[in-house]
Amino acid sequence: MTMHKIFIAGEWREGRGEPLISTFPADGSINAELNAASLEDVDDAVAAADRAWREPAWRDLPPHRRADVLYRVSRLIEARCEALAALQTRDNGKPLAEARGLVMSAAGTARYFAAACETLEGELPTPRSADVMTFSHYEPLGVIAAITPWNSPIASEMQKVAPALAGGNAVILKPAEATPLMALELAALFEEAGLPKGLLSVLPGKGRVIGEALARHPGVRRISFTGGTETGRHLAHVAADKLISTSLELGGKSPTIVLPDADMEQAAKGVAYGIFSSAGQACIAGSRLYVHADCYTAFMERLEEITRGLRVGHPETPGTHLGPLINIRHRDSVAAYVDQARQDGGHVRIGGQVPTDPSLAAGSYYLPTIIEGLAPTSRVCREEIFGPVLVAAPFDDEDDLVAQANDSVYGLAAGIWTRDYRDALRLGARLEAGTVWVNTYKTFSISTPFGGFKESGLGREKGRQGIHAYMQQKSFYLGLGQTPNPWCD
Ligand code: NAD
Repeated sequence: MTMHKIFIAGEWREGRGEPLISTFPADGSINAELNAASLEDVDDAVAAADRAWREPAWRDLPPHRRADVLYRVSRLIEARCEALAALQTRDNGKPLAEARGLVMSAAGTARYFAAACETLEGELPTPRSADVMTFSHYEPLGVIAAITPWNSPIASEMQKVAPALAGGNAVILKPAEATPLMALELAALFEEAGLPKGLLSVLPGKGRVIGEALARHPGVRRISFTGGTETGRHLAHVAADKLISTSLELGGKSPTIVLPDADMEQAAKGVAYGIFSSAGQACIAGSRLYVHADCYTAFMERLEEITRGLRVGHPETPGTHLGPLINIRHRDSVAAYVDQARQDGGHVRIGGQVPTDPSLAAGSYYLPTIIEGLAPTSRVCREEIFGPVLVAAPFDDEDDLVAQANDSVYGLAAGIWTRDYRDALRLGARLEAGTVWVNTYKTFSISTPFGGFKESGLGREKGRQGIHAYMQQKSFYLGLGQTPNPWCD
């Protein structure tokens, strides 16, 4: 096996940090061995990034030329969708069909921010005095640290790299320990698309070492983070100490609500998709289900039937619904939550164990699981499990439902299934969540802002404003008066 190089300051180099092994979660086989970045590599990457974003060749490049790089990357990604999806699947075990979706969404993100870059406008406010004209425009921030989790690498990484580059910055990407390969492949694509050297570096390594050093580096002007709430809280402190801006896309424990008039078949399939796709390893997973008491029994029977039909299997096998979890350690933490639910008096309606199929024994698989009968105060109802585990409960009163749905430190997303849009909008307005899906779940549009309420995050990604998050406004005043300022007289 050859040693994978990492991309520092526009060069492919051997990292000077500790060895890092990327494994395939389906069977534990080794994808690649590499040396992680070292603290010296962090310094090198930041120094090169700081030079590169100030270079007139990048800084003064007309926006449509800067956009060209992103358009080229978008086309490269589309043309290589299959190979990239295969790599994404090897990196984190997502079924190939899901990985293809993520790859195409990354291509769309690059295209969207290329267009946002080309059409970026300043502001021409009407001033309060006729003696002055003002305008305000957007400038880059400088060096951006982008720190990402393992669950959807290509999509979450492009969601940071594209708007940051479109805004004229340099980016240093620190991917999750478990998934270094996709970020490195992205770097290769940007290099091929002609991105000037130094504007992008990829530094695989431990969060507490390399991520920490990057975030704390005096040359870094913004931390764009996606990951767990505790890490996000810590990075908010780091950013506060440096007085730099940050955006935090964090965890969730999102409620999904089924009203009695919902299309039951559509709702049951939507609920199953919302929690069990990506084997539940999604920040937006609809992991708490509230079904109206009038339809609870029938709905849960159908949901159980659908869940029983889901195929847990090798992520490269067509038709697999749930692939493995990221690693055995994480699988065991999911299993421990289910054990806890049993101890707390919960009834495991389906799942609640690793699959017995011997062909899956080497992978970190867990069966899709539905638990009922838990008190809302139980840990399993309150903490993010990040696995295929759904807790379900009936409700019959809207105020009580809203209180339960909002009784969470998180506020990332929510789902509502009903045929009546008045009910959906009334209920949606009462839910503390950054995204509310009605009669759909986990659908995404790059033009729609995304982010969390409460401990699910700070700031928004995507949307036309997404590029502004990586820029700062500068205002100019142009004096129009002909007479000298009378103050000196
Ligand atoms: P994590 O917080 O453990 O790690 C995320 C990234 O932060 C990794 O690259 C890690 O190496 C790095 N990191 C860890 N400690 C650090 C430190 N002290 N300084 C700097 N960087 C550090 O999260 P994870 O386990 O990789 O991912 C799962 C979490 O991500 C879940 O909580 C999930 O909900 C969340 N997530 C949120 C979104 C969103 O958009 N809201 C999307 C995907 C995942």
